[in-house]
Amino acid sequence: MSAVGYPFSAIVGLADLRLALLLNAVSPAIGGVLVRGEKGTAKSTMVRALAALLPEVDVVAGCRFACDPAQPDPACPDGPHEASAPYETRRARLVELPVGATEDRLVGSLDLERALTEGVKAYEPGLLAAAHRGVLYVDEVNLLHDHLVDLLLDAAAMGTCHVEREGVSVRHAARFLLVGTMNPEEGELRPQLLDRFGLTVEVRASRDPGERAEVVRRRLAYEADPAGFAARWREADEELARRIADARALLPRVELPDTELERIARVCAAFEVDGLRADLVTARAAIALAAWHGRDRVTADDVRQAALLALPHRRRRNPFDAPGLDPETLDEALGEPDPDPEPPAGGPGGQDGDRAEGSADHSADHSADHSADHSVEQGADHGAEQGAEPPPGPGAAEQAPVKPGEPFRARLLSVPGVGSGRAGRRSRAETSYGRTVRARRPVQPVTRLHLTGTLRAAAPHQVARGRAPGGGLVLRREDLREAVREGREGNLVLFVVDASGSMGARQRMRAVKGAVLSLLLDAYQRRDKVGLVTFRGSGAEIVLQPTSSVDVAAARLETLPTGGRTPLAAGLLTAHKVLYHEHLRDPRRRPLLVVVTDGRATHGPDPVGEARRAARLLAARRVAGVVVDCETGPVRLGLAQRLAADLGALALRLDELAADALAGLVRGIKDPRDSRRAA
Ligand SMILES: [Zn+2]
Repeated sequence: MSAVGYPFSAIVGLADLRLALLLNAVSPAIGGVLVRGEKGTAKSTMVRALAALLPEVDVVAGCRFACDPAQPDPACPDGPHEASAPYETRRARLVELPVGATEDRLVGSLDLERALTEGVKAYEPGLLAAAHRGVLYVDEVNLLHDHLVDLLLDAAAMGTCHVEREGVSVRHAARFLLVGTMNPEEGELRPQLLDRFGLTVEVRASRDPGERAEVVRRRLAYEADPAGFAARWREADEELARRIADARALLPRVELPDTELERIARVCAAFEVDGLRADLVTARAAIALAAWHGRDRVTADDVRQAALLALPHRRRRNPFDAPGLDPETLDEALGEPDPDPEPPAGGPGGQDGDRAEGSADHSADHSADHSADHSVEQGADHGAEQGAEPPPGPGAAEQAPVKPGEPFRARLLSVPGVGSGRAGRRSRAETSYGRTVRARRPVQPVTRLHLTGTLRAAAPHQVARGRAPGGGLVLRREDLREAVREGREGNLVLFVVDASGSMGARQRMRAVKGAVLSLLLDAYQRRDKVGLVTFRGSGAEIVLQPTSSVDVAAARLETLPTGGRTPLAAGLLTAHKVLYHEHLRDPRRRPLLVVVTDGRATHGPDPVGEARRAARLLAARRVAGVVVDCETGPVRLGLAQRLAADLGALALRLDELAADALAGLVRGIKDPRDSRRAA
């Protein structure tokens, strides 16, 4: 990489991102920017270029925590600093947080061994300290562990980094402009975390050939002669830097009139965002916009622009909703400059009714949610009445894909045993977070001390080490024991869905799709990878290779065609193949196979025998599984139950998948061995 950075002013397009970054540069209290979009856009170039525009900072010489000499951090671990301490002036830093970073790398590390054996408080600052008064850039923030994102966003909100290990604690100032990027195709960020970024921007490479050509032209010119290129844009960049400094100076004097504050409240209410964070961020962004334009008063236009940056990521109700703001709803909420002439007291009910069609639909969806658990069963029974007779076999005319039923909250299905996969929320696993379960000799420097384990290890040696009566414990390095912690891991949930005609009428398929959708939603919340295999007609198909992008899985499910014969064996063998490849790719991620079927097999010379052999192959690999039994109607063959036995899997009926169907489940299980497997 060249020593001369790419100039900010030379970046083509990306107007929203440019504005969002500049507003945060003017007012870091906005809370940072989350950049969503495909790879290969100039987002990281732009963030680096922004750092070069930020005003220079004075720092106390030799302070690793970038203390401001005019106002040194009283808690600074390198302090206290004398008022007359020498200082230096340097650029605001850009610090990048890599996806694989550990907690210690982020917040800094306390050397527990030295603290306990030598009594020295040794603290090595982390990336939060390095980013203080600069920019912290997190590429692919959606791939970062939740726990780290939490720490990061806590620090960003508090302006402080706090590390505590076994009663030894350090605190230092950490105020920075936070920029995260993510590619939504690689998995979403949990809504709770999404909400904590101030602004979001969607970016994609321009589809305009002229603009694309200009991007390449400038890039080539820069690569041929970085210094010359930068020199041509220096004046423009210096102008921007001046504008940022001026806007910062103006910021405290910008007025937010009541009419505009009310407008903000109206917009946030119209989009049904949770809490007041949205209102605050919108207000701050609107104020920064006014300052950026050199005005000392917020206008309606500032509010509109601020809302477009601050609200899209706050209104999503579930991960399958596309982000974004409906412009009609926005305009309606922005409304006339004066508040509604109608009394606001009658407001809540009346306003609800008046809301744009989109959100009205949405609340209808929600009320349907609550009855979903019942409707699954009713739907299934109803379907069986209508379609006890399987539709004609292969060659039957295909109908439009069946829409999935309403999703419900699924009960937790997990892999038995204790794994060691990537942290998540499904199965038990040894993790660096979570509750302490035992002590062991450390393999690396101790960061999580097991105090009683350490004392127990030291106790037998006290006489030999010459501990005086009444004296302190004589502790040696070899006594230290680290805590083994247990939390939860994410798994690979592979769905194998029977989409054949034997699954009966459309109504039943609707219930089946609704159930799978519910499990997908659950997988999203538990940070699993998901894959989807279906079988129908003459074979099986990998509809979705394992991915973290649950919304893609949901979309594929929606358009999934159904009908035809039932090649159950092909479905199981395809699942076996997918699991084998995934195991090679990531041996620590444990799979959970979810087979959704009525257990019938009707394709091939020996459909039932082949299916049983395939099931035993999976059982031999000790794949944890669940068979969701879709058989309904008065006469039951119990084929899915038998498949579950062959797989060594838990069998559940469709109506037992909902979290609150647990009571029914306990009554429903016949085989006690199966109920243990479920735990
Ligand atoms: Zn300091």
